[in-house]
Amino acid sequence: MSYSIEVENLTKIYKGFPANDGVNLKVPKGSIFGLIGRNGAGKTTLMKMILGFSSRTDGIIRINGKEREEELWKERGHIGSIIEVPAFYDEMSCYENTMYHAKLLGIKDKSVVERVLSEVGLSRFKTRKVKAFSLGMRQKLGIACAVLGNPDILLLDEPTNGLDPVAIAEIRRLLQRLNEKGVTIFISSHILGEMEKIATDYAFMMDGKVVESISAGDLKNTGKDLETYFLDIVGGDTDEKDI
Ligand code: ATP
Repeated sequence: MSYSIEVENLTKIYKGFPANDGVNLKVPKGSIFGLIGRNGAGKTTLMKMILGFSSRTDGIIRINGKEREEELWKERGHIGSIIEVPAFYDEMSCYENTMYHAKLLGIKDKSVVERVLSEVGLSRFKTRKVKAFSLGMRQKLGIACAVLGNPDILLLDEPTNGLDPVAIAEIRRLLQRLNEKGVTIFISSHILGEMEKIATDYAFMMDGKVVESISAGDLKNTGKDLETYFLDIVGGDTDEKDI
């Protein structure tokens, strides 16, 4: 099997505190990979190191099989991402913001911008200023900008957090369409029911470590749903909603 992302013994120490403590993870090419963990488990830290936003204290990161620093940075250029809240210029329209990101990537062809806005369902709002956008519309715009460069990996940190059920379903379909076109999707989420609808593989993080990875097929064979499986791993209380 080939992997889009592999990390080995990845470690990040913040002033003596291990936010990632020897993480091992393999994201199969073509998968929709769900990274699941409680608040503070280390998911965002892991994603930031993969993207190179944050330096690592130790460990190996391999993207599309490449791990040497120069080659790794080249491969990072093939990742589209949203970490935390996507940043836009509120006074600019949806189209202008997307065009701005396109220009940063050296894309001059306006039809590319039109295409991605249509893909995420924002064509009819393209002249609207982003300050008038809802959270769901901002997330879709974030995904539009993340896919502008035709990435083969999409890395999304909690893209459906705070969205209503319609927006969640729209983003799910959008991600499924992108995945069908061959994009590997690495996604962190707290919404287990949603993850279960879309993910092909899971990794569970706890206290800075990946404590288990399992495919959706193998999870199904256990006879447990994702929530039960996860709570069994983290030793959680089913009444506790803060995961
Ligand atoms: P959440 O689901 O709440 O977003 P997370 O799993 O993404 O959480 P991280 O944001 O990666 O968790 O944080 C992991 C741990 O590292 C937390 O204890 C956090 O306080 C700590 N941490 C993260 N960033 C920093 C930083 N810049 N300086 C110091 N500690 C940090």
